[in-house]
Amino acid sequence: MLCPISLRKPDDFHLHLRDGKLLEAVLPHSAQTFARTLVMPNLATPIVNARQARTYKENILRILHKFRYPSNASSPFHPLMTIFLTEETTPQSFYLEDSERTSPPLERSVFAGKLYFATATTNTKHGVQHLPSLFPLFEHMEKHNIPLSIHGEIADETTDVFDRESLFIDQHLEPLIERFPELRITFEHISTKEAVDFVSERARSPNKLAATITPHHLLLNRNDLLGCGLRPHHYCLPLVKRERDRLALVGAARSGERCFFLGTDSAPHGRSHKQASCGCAGIFNAPYAIECVFAALQPDKPAELGCLELFTSENGAAFHDLPLNEERITLVKKTAPYRTSLSVPVPDPVPVPDPVPVPDPDPVPDADAEEEIVVFTPPNQPDDTESLQILRG
Ligand SMILES: [Zn+2]
Repeated sequence: MLCPISLRKPDDFHLHLRDGKLLEAVLPHSAQTFARTLVMPNLATPIVNARQARTYKENILRILHKFRYPSNASSPFHPLMTIFLTEETTPQSFYLEDSERTSPPLERSVFAGKLYFATATTNTKHGVQHLPSLFPLFEHMEKHNIPLSIHGEIADETTDVFDRESLFIDQHLEPLIERFPELRITFEHISTKEAVDFVSERARSPNKLAATITPHHLLLNRNDLLGCGLRPHHYCLPLVKRERDRLALVGAARSGERCFFLGTDSAPHGRSHKQASCGCAGIFNAPYAIECVFAALQPDKPAELGCLELFTSENGAAFHDLPLNEERITLVKKTAPYRTSLSVPVPDPVPVPDPVPVPDPDPVPDADAEEEIVVFTPPNQPDDTESLQILRG
């Protein structure tokens, strides 16, 4: 592999930062790597309007300044806020003031809307059960250029969990694109060859449909989750799929096609919530997200590196009409091993999981105990003495 590597600073178009102590613990890991990140709204109390989004953003910026920018220097890390769409969301939910309707997207309190389908089990009040009830809202988003990010899976317990993404395409995504051709839609964390093919075929210029791909879906297939013992730290939603699906995702990320870009879906959960009788979905990959992408895509030539840079740092910005980041990061080989866990104070109450609730999580430890979050790292080759890591300083 080429090394050292200089890369335009990446953006992360799908990130779970949580709240409270967990937010403080995980935020620096994203802030030191990414320039901008689309912050998911599924906190224990979901972010459903501009007022909540503004408060959450202020919390994030306060923590950034506390840990990284003690002076008045402005933060180079920009959280782009989303709201959780429900059947009660109105166009006004996106704005603090009416004047925001005509503001440039980066200056609005809310950058995008996030759609989760309700599940048939717990917490159904948070998600959407009847998509047509949101059509008036989608008309507004289309007219005012507000992006729609979708967790693209059918969410009901009678549908096979491995088929939920493909059925989402047929039942919801295709009709949605037909009905709202100018609505900017991100099909998030795609996990199947069908999704890759669909997005690639339907992308057009100017492109209104795109897909994010996570580092873990680029590296794992379902054997890594289930094939040799159950590995709860590889459990995420959508589930990782067959090897042919993983290869299709790698091909999409390597292709440089404008409709594919990085969204890490980094989602921290304490070890006790992962290694439980009914464990949480979500993989915490923020510390080594870019290293994982490199491990999966293995660029050998400058042209391949160029395509990888499109995937990590340019396509997402272009899709959202954002300027390209001018800063760069450098990856070098280090003898230091990857850090495999992070100790944090016991997290606050379990956030709304990603995306479906856990019926009965095991009890958390005492309130003054520490909790550990397992870090997703690039796979080590047997003869590796060095690891590729971002030069941070
Ligand atoms: Zn997510």
